[in-house]
Amino acid sequence: MAQSLAEVIPAGPDQTVKRRIAQAVETTRDEILDLSHRIHANPEVAFEEEQASAWVADALTRHGFTVERPAGRLPTAVRAIRRGGRGGATPRIGILAEYDALPGLGHGCGHNTMAASGVGAAIALGAIADELPGEIVFFGTPAEERGSGKQIMIEDGLFEGIDAALLFHPCDRNHVQSFPLASEDVEVVFHGLQAHAAADPWKGKNALDAMILLFSSVGLWRQQLRTDARVHGIIQEGGTAANIIPERTRAWFMLRSPDQAYYDEMKARFRSLAAAAAMATETTVDVTFSGGATTMKPNATLEARWIANAAAYGIEDQGPDPNSGSTDMANVSWVCPTIHPDLAIAPEGTPGHSILFRDAAATPKADETTLLAATLIAQTAYDLFADPALLAAAWNDFRGGG
Ligand SMILES: [Zn+2]
Repeated sequence: MAQSLAEVIPAGPDQTVKRRIAQAVETTRDEILDLSHRIHANPEVAFEEEQASAWVADALTRHGFTVERPAGRLPTAVRAIRRGGRGGATPRIGILAEYDALPGLGHGCGHNTMAASGVGAAIALGAIADELPGEIVFFGTPAEERGSGKQIMIEDGLFEGIDAALLFHPCDRNHVQSFPLASEDVEVVFHGLQAHAAADPWKGKNALDAMILLFSSVGLWRQQLRTDARVHGIIQEGGTAANIIPERTRAWFMLRSPDQAYYDEMKARFRSLAAAAAMATETTVDVTFSGGATTMKPNATLEARWIANAAAYGIEDQGPDPNSGSTDMANVSWVCPTIHPDLAIAPEGTPGHSILFRDAAATPKADETTLLAATLIAQTAYDLFADPALLAAAWNDFRGGG
């Protein structure tokens, strides 16, 4: 960016307040970037984000938020609330942050920039809190890379009464829309009965036969699956010796689909295939779905507002990325109107979850994007605080009336 954030004329009617938001981000610049760099230099994997969550909580405490850590059952989850000075309990706008790293790679997904920009956005909104109704509600959300921490926080009731949720993600492109896949790990365990494989095999119940039947069924099922659905698995326990009828076998499958309703059908069908294999072999089966990421419910109202706010800073939306992984921010999108916009921190073509992306996440370019993300998240949140009609339109989209 050629200009400082505070010099840009923001979008929409409330330019004065939006400029003050940008100025608040500039004023806190060193604190925001120090947080980003510290988390980047001290990567912690899912559910183990002790330092990152403490640093985030400390920063928000210093800036006048009432902080819970832990929030709900996750020790590294944070919720921080600051009441607006205009009174009233609503709206409650959620500003999210992530801070987990990848095993053996560090911040290869750049979540340090998400922690810092989320904190920065909350601090900037805090700076104009006297003029806001309702509450600024910050969520530090652990375990995005494995375990879907946001789903656990949803089940813990932490998102109840939240009117909208906003979270930036670093990328090699600028775009607000994405189409993450529903995805889950599935553990399958067949239980049979041991017997001598030569002397008296008829006394056994063969758990490996059951597993082979399941893999055969899944293979045949693929012909009838939609082309964008995925099911893939490996056998992790297949028995212990060739002369023992296996009494226990275990497999790890994954199911994925870009269509949530279809995905739910796939899960039901997979259970049927496993039950059929057990019935055919007189074994029993346990099928355990991990719980995981859902598909994303888009919100056209919030997307349009983000694009307008970003355009004032010279950001042109490049359209959705057709290749998508999965994220637990998608789970939040079924609770309230949600956006998960991407802004570039690296040259286009830089692969995610890589050393290249990890190194990009602590460069001056990433720092500028982190400050811009904090500004745009806070400005978009401000629009929702200030304009009840905008929030109503977002909820109309959410309920399918858009
Ligand atoms: Zn990520």
